[in-house]
Parts: sequence; structure tokens; C-alpha cells
Amino acid sequence: MTLAIRFYQTGGPEVLQTETMEVGAPGPGEVRLRHTAIGVNFIDTYVRSGLYPAGLPSGLGTEAAGVVEAVGASVEQVRVGERVAYCGGPLGAYSEQRLIPASVLVKLPDEIGDEQAACMMLQGMTVEYLIRRTYPVQPGQTVLWHAAAGGVGQIAVQWLSSLGVNVIGTVGSDAKAELARALGCAHVINYSTENVVERVRELTGGHGVPVVYDSVGKDTFEISLNCLAPRGMFVSFGNASGAVPPFSPLLLAQKGSLFFTRPRLGDYTASREELEVSANALFERVQAGAIKIAPSQRYALADVAEAHRDLEGRRTTGSLILLP
Ligand code: NDP
Repeated sequence: MTLAIRFYQTGGPEVLQTETMEVGAPGPGEVRLRHTAIGVNFIDTYVRSGLYPAGLPSGLGTEAAGVVEAVGASVEQVRVGERVAYCGGPLGAYSEQRLIPASVLVKLPDEIGDEQAACMMLQGMTVEYLIRRTYPVQPGQTVLWHAAAGGVGQIAVQWLSSLGVNVIGTVGSDAKAELARALGCAHVINYSTENVVERVRELTGGHGVPVVYDSVGKDTFEISLNCLAPRGMFVSFGNASGAVPPFSPLLLAQKGSLFFTRPRLGDYTASREELEVSANALFERVQAGAIKIAPSQRYALADVAEAHRDLEGRRTTGSLILLP
């Protein structure tokens, strides 16, 4: 039996229920995993609220670290007792134990702890594909990254600055600004109090940036458009403030022949090879000491609603985990 978080209707954090469930034996290609640390990501709030539809009732969560307890037939990637982590597979990471396809699991190097892994698989592999494959950022370039003190943001700032990239980070408070600066942002803009477009133009000699990474969505859409240099790339990868409204392609022409993409991690880690390349690139940066990752907030599994309230209320920085 396991404790698991489930929801029967979409809505606020109050729809999340803690239940006791049977786990069962792993089928062919599956593994039974005992979780040691579970990642909380903004995407979980979109699924819970209904912005990203899921069949109901549903489990929740897509990222965790743990120990393999049993393997089904024809599982070759992992063995009983091994430490693994994942981001992906069916919803249901918010649980003590679960069944999961072995194909999404990555073995953890000894130097990467379980809590650390639960903080970084989803957010870190997202940074990997965004900065190396969606728009390959070059040393010496200046990029704009919104919500720089958040989970994805903190990893991005450290990774990019370790490559010699100048990061202009935006944040919602002065305390977050200090944090973003300490992590390696060349410049930090508080978008609650400052004019982001003016500051970015100033900082880039009027030219604008070649790429904007925007996960805030609705509230920053226009700002991001106006910060881009001609032929720049708008990477819209999230909707923390709400979804970006529909717009005409003509707008991209008027703003300087811009490119616009709306990428998802799953499409950049669709094959086993891509998944391993992405995870290994992340592990390499962490093991080299270029990126420091630890949970900024820990919650008991049963307190998941509080974790969601804090995340959506902009009260968190860095990564959040649940402890089973
Ligand atoms: P964060 O820790 O970054 O939390 C979201 C942050 O967004 C907040 O802390 C807040 O920072 C900022 N924000 C701005 N406006 C709002 C608002 N109205 N409500 C809430 N937050 C707001 O979360 P994650 O690191 O988990 O995820 C960051 C983003 O990346 C999310 O949008 C997520 O969906 C996206 N994502 C996309 C992926 C993809 O492949 N497409 C994969 C992984 C994540 P501040 O107070 O500084 O403004």
C-alpha cells in the first residue's frame, strides 16, 4: 500500500487529496519504485487547475528520485536496489511508491543526492534543451531570462553564466533580485517596479537581445517582444501568469522578423538517446561545480496543497520538493 495524492476535479490546491492505494506488481517493462524525494513543478499546478487537461480522477507529479524495489519482465536498464530519478512517464510522482516504465528512468551518479535529483531533473533538463538546442546560446551573448530566481531560472542563470553568457534576469522582488545577482546574473531587473524594455534597451546599446526565455506568459508577452533584436528568438516555454493570448504572425514581422517557438521538454527528450544526452549534460555541469542545486523548500507529501499555494503565490525561490 502507498500514500498517493489524487484529484477528482480540477481547481485550486484544495482539490488535492491524500489517499491510500494498492501499488501492485510491475508489468513487463515496468519498475516498482520507492520514492525518496519528489519534485514540485509549476506544470503540476497547470494540470491541477485544468489548464493542461488530464483524464480524471488522476494522480499528479512528473518528477522524483527513488530506489528500484522490483522489476517486471524484460526490464534491462535498471536493477533492484539501484538509485534512479525521472521526469516523465504517467502522472503520479506525488506518492510514496509507484509503478513506472523503466524507459524513463535515469541511474543516478553517486555524487548526485536524491533530494538534489528531485530538484533538478525536470528543471535542469529543461534548461539543457532551451539553451543548447532550442536556441544555442554562445559565450559573450546577452540573453533575457524571466523569473530568474525560480526553479528553472536559478539553474539557467548558473549554467549560462558558467559559459560566459551575460544574463539579464527579471524577478518580482528586491530579495529575489539579490539572489539572482548572487547566482550569476550580469544584470537584474525587478519587473514589479522597473520598465524592463527601457532597461534592456539601455543595457544592449539600444539593440535588444537575440533571445528571450519567457515562462511567465501573459504578463510578459509584450515586454519580451519589445526586448528582442531584429531576427531574435522568442522562446515561450511557460504560463506562470496565464497563457499567452492568440496573436497574428504579422506582429512578428512588425517587431523585426522575429522567430517564435513554444517548446516542451517531452519533445526534446522523446528518444532514449536524447534523454540520456540531456541528463548527462546536466550531471556534468553539476559535478563540475558550475551549478549548485539544493531544495529551497521541503514539504511533507501530505502538505502538497501548501507547496502549490506557495509556488503559485510567488513566495518560493529555487526548487521545491515533497518528502514521502
Ligand atoms: P518557478 O519557481 O519559476 O515559479 C514561477 C515564478 O514565476 C514565480 O516564482 C514568479 O517569480 C514568476 N511569476 C511571474 N508572474 C507570476 C504569476 N502571476 N503567478 C505566479 N508566478 C509568477 O517555477 P518552475 O521553475 O517550476 O517553472 C518555471 C516555468 O517554466 C513555469 O512557467 C513552467 O511551466 C515552465 N516550464 C516549462 C517547461 C517546458 O518544457 N516548456 C519545463 C519546465 C518548466 P517572480 O516572483 O520573480 O516573478
